[in-house]
Amino acid sequence: MFSLTYEFKLKPTSEQIAIFTDWLEQCRRIYNYALGERKDWFKSRSCQINACSLRSEYIIPADTIRPTYAKQCKALTAYRKTSPRLQKVQSQVLQQTLRRLEQAFVSMWEQSHGFPRFKKPGTMRSFVFPQLSKDAIIGNTIKLPMIGWVKFRQSREIPASSKVAQARIVCRATGWYIMLTLQWDVTVPDIMPHGEGIGIDLGISHFAAVSNGKLFPNPRPFKKLERKLKLLQRSVSRKVKGSNNRKKAQFKVSKLHERIANVRAYYHWLYAHNLCDWAGMIFAEDLNLKGLARGFLGKHCLDAGWGQFFQILEQCCFKRGVFFLKVDSKKTSQICPNCLIETGKKDLSERTHSCQHCGYTTDRDVAAAQVVLIRGLAAVGHTGLACFPRVKRLRSP
Ligand SMILES: [Zn+2]
Repeated sequence: MFSLTYEFKLKPTSEQIAIFTDWLEQCRRIYNYALGERKDWFKSRSCQINACSLRSEYIIPADTIRPTYAKQCKALTAYRKTSPRLQKVQSQVLQQTLRRLEQAFVSMWEQSHGFPRFKKPGTMRSFVFPQLSKDAIIGNTIKLPMIGWVKFRQSREIPASSKVAQARIVCRATGWYIMLTLQWDVTVPDIMPHGEGIGIDLGISHFAAVSNGKLFPNPRPFKKLERKLKLLQRSVSRKVKGSNNRKKAQFKVSKLHERIANVRAYYHWLYAHNLCDWAGMIFAEDLNLKGLARGFLGKHCLDAGWGQFFQILEQCCFKRGVFFLKVDSKKTSQICPNCLIETGKKDLSERTHSCQHCGYTTDRDVAAAQVVLIRGLAAVGHTGLACFPRVKRLRSP
């Protein structure tokens, strides 16, 4: 079984938009209520031994069980019977909201994400139908439970062999979208390492360096948009708070944010396909993204969107049958790819790698990518040295 997500723009009527907006708000309230319940329970358990509770005491009995997804679902079903507002929303959609909260807690425990936060008005932007009826899509309309037929812009063909497993309705600045998760009941064999291998090194001065000597520049239109974003944000801060003009200016900002995200995803897909054209195996550094984002170049790391790039690259490799592997990222910029001797730390301003031992000279990032390639080949059991075409080689002095 494997699945892909297709995204389409919805063309809802004004009544349907009103329903979507109301459902998002109800989901937000459920989310906040359930989070409040969990938060209270956690607080009642954490006791500070060196301080007395001067302001308040928690009155949750000691033997109360921790609120779990199943427990909160049960409570929700009971409460929904008494609330006409909630009855307008499909029960599965509300349950999915609780599941989302559960997921937020799981990623806190397992991936040390932060404690989940309450959602302010307007910050809940999507809800999920975990299943659709059979034949839910006819032509360019889709049948949503309790809402009915909604038109969408069919920008690509939906494969007839697939089944719609899930539908997520998303609200963005430019309108409403639907993300369909399509499933196929086939088993896909794992991709085995094959063909030529390349290593990539992600950087800030270039978006990525490839072991074959190519450098991907950081997308230029993105920089242009950034300047525009700053101007728009300044114009928002000049307008009176709560005024209509401020709202209009804010809308422009959120539209631009969306455009920047689109441009970024476009380039990520472009580069990923480019890489897949060249090789049968792709190796990348296994970066500690969270650690980097906290560092002094954090803003630039987030800006380049490396996390998203890895996701897209992985999907792209899967689609095109290319083997993908992440390798250890330690000291990739300090080792000479030609003689494998450590050359010592390089300053960030030092743009070229030139080895004192063997005289190998190349771009600093390309050298790091070649080290990644060597590690990748070793990991998949390839023996023999990797060869690097199109790289200048100087004679040792
Ligand atoms: Zn060397």
